[in-house]
Amino acid sequence: MKVHEYQARQLLRDAGVPVPRSEVVESIEAAVAAHHHIGGTVVVKAQVFAGGRGKAGFVKLCPTPPETEAAARFMLSNRMVSKQTGPEGIAVKKLLVAEAVDISAEYYVGVVLDRTRRTPVMMVSREGGVEIEEVAARNPDAIVKEWFHPHLGLQSFQVAKLIDALGLVDKGQVKAAGLVLRGLARIFLEKDCSLAEINPLVRTPAGQILAIDAKMNFDDSALFRHADIQAMHDPTEENSAELRAKAADLTYIALDGNIGCLVNGAGLAMATMDIIKLCGGEPANFLDVGGSVTTEGAIEAFRIILADPKVKGVLVNIFGGIAKCDTIAEALIAAAQEVGFKVPVVVRLEGTNVERAREMLKSANIDRLVPAKDLTDAARKVCAQVA
Ligand code: ADP
Ligand code: MG
Repeated sequence: MKVHEYQARQLLRDAGVPVPRSEVVESIEAAVAAHHHIGGTVVVKAQVFAGGRGKAGFVKLCPTPPETEAAARFMLSNRMVSKQTGPEGIAVKKLLVAEAVDISAEYYVGVVLDRTRRTPVMMVSREGGVEIEEVAARNPDAIVKEWFHPHLGLQSFQVAKLIDALGLVDKGQVKAAGLVLRGLARIFLEKDCSLAEINPLVRTPAGQILAIDAKMNFDDSALFRHADIQAMHDPTEENSAELRAKAADLTYIALDGNIGCLVNGAGLAMATMDIIKLCGGEPANFLDVGGSVTTEGAIEAFRIILADPKVKGVLVNIFGGIAKCDTIAEALIAAAQEVGFKVPVVVRLEGTNVERAREMLKSANIDRLVPAKDLTDAARKVCAQVA
């Protein structure tokens, strides 16, 4: 689960990390009012689940309230397109108005899980800021790592090594940075994060160390033990098809291609996507209806897939084991009646009650339904249909 920057900032504050003052707003008028409360120069920042905002023009330094008004108007009425969004971009509903700070240096500090070593790892760089991805690609040595024990946490000698890597020597700054690194590592462990990042952590000309951007993701499987994090969930920022699928107990992941896949079983879904690719096609999604699918669940699956304007063809690949082929056939017929197949739907059914399912589909005589004799045939047919 992802949270907004303003929520991550609050978690940092709670952990004793210094973060400049800010207010979250949802309208232009409220942004201007926030500017007046905070005073001086502020920075207006789009609150969306994607980074690269600075480069996309969605982080704006505003010395005066009229500039804040213009920035808020721009951000609330334009979709943000950055490296981390698709070309269609995302709409902005919330803004953070934060106190601006003078910056002498920008550092990167982040914690992720290292799956190979099976421990969290803290990474720091003195080349933080909006170019961190390029730094990682061009000069990986500029990122210094310390792996730490998931129960013992980040140790003092590790904190000292990381602060040394940041080039901080002033006693006050070393102490302040220590609080930041310990606080971030503690949040990561206590809240079951999968990512906890401050980029940039800045040093001001006066020698203050401040976190001015924060990003945190949480392990969905551990959310049950964090009511506070669950309460931060913002469903409006998530893919609506993925949310609908979750509600219907379907496993659905949106992808970039144009062939919708309706499959039972994750392994079969992977194999289906592979064979589509092999035939030159691109899957539009991964949808696993699971073993114990009901007719209602399967109809909802069709609704979700067919509502995606990117989908130019659908491949239904069902191996009837626990899920019966006739259940799927029933759902296909109902879905065809309810939503209508505006795109070709290629169907490969095999397994329990397949004969009965084929009979049902044949007598229903559904427009745009293309039967296939096996998986290869199905993949070829659907790829030919969308080509
Ligand atoms: P993103 O990572 O999405 O691009 P950031 O919050 O990191 O967004 O902002 C991008 C850049 O904007 C920062 O690296 C920093 O240079 C500048 N910036 C952000 N917040 C402030 C602030 N409060 N005061 C001054 N400059 C800021
Ligand atoms: Mg940033």
